[in-house]
Amino acid sequence: MNSEENCSISISENISRVRSAIKAACERAGRDPGDVTLIAVSKTKPFSDILEALDSGATAFGENYVQELMEKIEENESSGAKKPIEWHMIGHLQKNKVKYLVGRTALIHSVDSVPLAAQIEKEAAKKELDVRILLEVNIAREESKFGFDPESLEPAAREISAFPHVKVLGLMTSAPLTENAETNRVYFRELKNLAEGLKAKKLLDVEETGKPVLSMGMTGDYQVAIEEGATMIRVGTAIFGKRNYQNGGNKQ
Ligand SMILES: *Cc1c(COP(=O)(O)O)cnc(C)c1O
Repeated sequence: MNSEENCSISISENISRVRSAIKAACERAGRDPGDVTLIAVSKTKPFSDILEALDSGATAFGENYVQELMEKIEENESSGAKKPIEWHMIGHLQKNKVKYLVGRTALIHSVDSVPLAAQIEKEAAKKELDVRILLEVNIAREESKFGFDPESLEPAAREISAFPHVKVLGLMTSAPLTENAETNRVYFRELKNLAEGLKAKKLLDVEETGKPVLSMGMTGDYQVAIEEGATMIRVGTAIFGKRNYQNGGNKQ
């Protein structure tokens, strides 16, 4: 299918297509598709698209911008929707926005500094909540990307794992944009190794599943990410179609 020629995309067909591809990747890797959570990345898309995806069985949604996420949460609450939505924050997060998020998300994937985690701890303690997070790793050391360098990950994890209200479930990465997903295989493998290393040092909170959460793989490379052990994939374009950025500002 050529998505550029395809004006009337059907979100529900796209989701079935992605689900088949998840299943096929799991078969190749001898994994259970139930161990891979599909996060539908709905950034820039209207709430009506989220409702359509919900009707097609998606339950977890990823957003990049705090304000847009809060607006969608409010729309969902006021729509009286019957199905619960799990909200995932996947975009770069500024410390001054943390107070809006705490208590509203299933998981914050994009924790990329110790001060940001400290701010989450502060707001979580205030609200007497536990907040589940992932540490974002800049696995290919790209200039343009946020995230811990692989070398600075362990000392950071050591500090953050001491925060009583912050639960570090695992790691997240955005691999380089590429035409050939195979070139990202090494990065996915490296993220998994880093997570296993942290787990062995008891720096991750793996009580829920016994295994670290690995949030890796997007439209272009999620099948390879699953083969390498992804437990969460973040898929936008393959579900909702191309995004339009009016201001052209944030390409993430
Ligand atoms: C936009 C975005 C995605 C989804 O990207 P697609 O290529 O559209 O699937 C996943 N993860 C992050 C962090 C993103 O910003």
